[in-house]
Amino acid sequence: TPITNKIGILALKNFNQTACYEEAEKFEPDPIVEKYYKGSKSCYACPIHCSKRFEIPEGPYKGEWGNKLEEGVVTPFGPTVGNSDIASIFKINNMVNQFGLDALECGGLIAVAIDWFKNGIITKKDTDGLELDWGKPEILIKLVEKIAKRQDIGDILADGALRASEKIGGKAAEYISHSKGMTFGGIDLRIMKGMALCLATSTRGCDHLRGSVPTETVGGLSRFTPEMAEKMFGSREVLDHNSYFKAVVAIRMQHIAAVTDCMEICRFASESNGGGLTIEDQVELFNAVTGLDFSVDDAMHAGERIFNLERLYIVREGIRRGDDRLIGKWVEGPVPSGQFKGDTIDKDKWEWMLDDYYDRRGWDKKTGIPTKEKLISLGLSEEAGWLDRI
Ligand code: SF4
Repeated sequence: TPITNKIGILALKNFNQTACYEEAEKFEPDPIVEKYYKGSKSCYACPIHCSKRFEIPEGPYKGEWGNKLEEGVVTPFGPTVGNSDIASIFKINNMVNQFGLDALECGGLIAVAIDWFKNGIITKKDTDGLELDWGKPEILIKLVEKIAKRQDIGDILADGALRASEKIGGKAAEYISHSKGMTFGGIDLRIMKGMALCLATSTRGCDHLRGSVPTETVGGLSRFTPEMAEKMFGSREVLDHNSYFKAVVAIRMQHIAAVTDCMEICRFASESNGGGLTIEDQVELFNAVTGLDFSVDDAMHAGERIFNLERLYIVREGIRRGDDRLIGKWVEGPVPSGQFKGDTIDKDKWEWMLDDYYDRRGWDKKTGIPTKEKLISLGLSEEAGWLDRI
């Protein structure tokens, strides 16, 4: 949170604010470690040791303990809902884990509900008397429980933000930031055009685990030098967060993500999430274990086959070019605050970026459906036959 806030990309309060977070320092790691940290655990041989044991020493949640507080819980139950009470985030971390709820989706959903309440879309009559507002940890805890148990407003919210908006009606749907029905938050995607493309074309909704565009430089942070960018992607433009020349990176990273999943390699420890084992490392490991002689090109070919198969599945379910976009009232407008205030997603340039993406993929530009020729070239001849039945 302090880093994304400092470099200007942190999205707060259901995208009503970008960066300029007054409470960001409460998320600085050192005081949190000092107060709550009890030790680390690791999966076998992993040097990252990401599982941090914590215990809450005081206050209303005193004695609550658990493992592994991820960014994917801190952001949706922190800045996304305007909450800076760290102890409550530990408590909610345990709750979502015990209830089996997806933390990102649940936090995004509650942020939308708060926005609805503040804009009069729902009232106390709908919330069983709860006054929803930003930064109220006790309300968050009640809502998480109500959603898990389908009580009161929780019964409607438990179907997800989009279906809930259909039941609520009016302008409710406009307040949801989503792609293909999956909400997103944490990062203001209006600023990073490549990440926006990657999430909008992800096969299971707006999913940051299906690829990323790590070349984009914001706040001076990038793993890629101009020379590396030129060598790998043929242009330095991929470094510019505002450039729409990103399809070449998005496609590569989507394929790497698919391969990493097949290898059962942890995302935190791999290139597909920004650092760690590269695709070259993964192929070397694969060959060492199997005795096969895969090349990086073979692995990337496998990743492309997987991505095309996933696309065929969602095409069968009705997904087309028009669904490869970010939806919600905020996408239409400019970034409201921070150093990127005024940045927008330009509609014409977005369409150009999608054209470039489909072109490079060998998909039909009008519909976003993989062409028969492309599928056959990937060795998916039988699947190419499915297109006749769509
Ligand atoms: S980074 Fe991944 S592999 Fe390493 S300890 Fe964490 S979950 Fe396990």
